[in-house]
Amino acid sequence: MATYRELLAQVKAEIDEVSPSEVLARLEDGDRPLLLDVREQDEWQEGHLPHAIHVPRGNLESRIEALVPDKSREIVIYCAAGARSAFAAKSLADLGYDDVSSLIGGFTDWKRNGYVFETPRGLTTEQRARYSRHILIPEVGEAGQQRLLDSRVLLIGAGGLGSPASLYLAAAGVGTLGIVDADVVDDSNLQRQIVHSTNTLGEPKVLSAKRTIEALNPDVQVLAYQERLTSENVERILADGWDVIVDGADNFPTRYLVNDASVWNDIPVVHGSIYRFEGQVTVFRPHVGPCYRCLYPAPPPPELAPSCAEGGVLGVLPGIIGSLQASEALKLILGAGDTLTGRLLLFDALHTTFDEVAVKKDPTCPVCGDAPTITEYVDYVEFCAGPVHV
Ligand SMILES: [Zn+2]
Repeated sequence: MATYRELLAQVKAEIDEVSPSEVLARLEDGDRPLLLDVREQDEWQEGHLPHAIHVPRGNLESRIEALVPDKSREIVIYCAAGARSAFAAKSLADLGYDDVSSLIGGFTDWKRNGYVFETPRGLTTEQRARYSRHILIPEVGEAGQQRLLDSRVLLIGAGGLGSPASLYLAAAGVGTLGIVDADVVDDSNLQRQIVHSTNTLGEPKVLSAKRTIEALNPDVQVLAYQERLTSENVERILADGWDVIVDGADNFPTRYLVNDASVWNDIPVVHGSIYRFEGQVTVFRPHVGPCYRCLYPAPPPPELAPSCAEGGVLGVLPGIIGSLQASEALKLILGAGDTLTGRLLLFDALHTTFDEVAVKKDPTCPVCGDAPTITEYVDYVEFCAGPVHV
């Protein structure tokens, strides 16, 4: 049986290593590899390499594919001294990443050389400039901006609503965005789905969105879930930890699924929907206000609920509703102002009117009521296709 030292030597013989001076030169050239910090949270808090992303060693294999879907991307892994990163480099190579190296001497040597590093507490000079118009607002300020950078928002759908919502949340500096979408970019999407472009036709929407968002703001990490949200995967995706869900789903099964999952996991949902010239937006805060089932106990019959694909939608409408969703999500994170909890906002673009309807929490609601009758995931497709339950 090998000792730790023998094992480490064996692993180091199988991987590539890179010196701090080489990495520094690359950073200064602007041709930077993805820097991946695999240390523990408390080590990360004390400082890390500029623009590095952080995945503790113990979560590396489970999270890396969502975080870095492109396996040909050049990655430099580092830890405190170069041992954990060597094992991590071996693991990534085994997962099919083909351009991975480990930083010799790790963060300790980097710091000892006097090279620049960032500390997560307190904004960097670049961040103070980038977010200066937020920092000027008393309701945000530097502490609020830090809170946004530490926050995590899950977007259901990278379509009409998810496009503006994800772009504004990213621009605002929400530090982690998760995006769930199984579709690829189609040319009929581009009339409204502004996170995608002609250049990304045919690409998975989550990857197209990830690329646009990361180009907009390198402070933002995007977790790409290239899958349709289902009863089978929802708990795994929610286990990655989210402060707010922005629901831009275009179908009823997903909306009911998101609702039930959010009530059971106690995560606020910013809901939006659009049809032709009309949009709706509201906030469902579990146990504080109503949920989606309090508002709509049963889905409409399919013939009365055409999707955008069937009914059409004015291209700018999701821009307006998705931006309102982003605004509500930011306020939920900041704890500022009054949200749309218990209020359904209706927008009519054709006549340019906003209306508001009060929505109450229903004590007989089957999911969030006093005596819930639905306590586990159901078959949502069947539920929404079935006879109308009134
Ligand atoms: Zn309810």
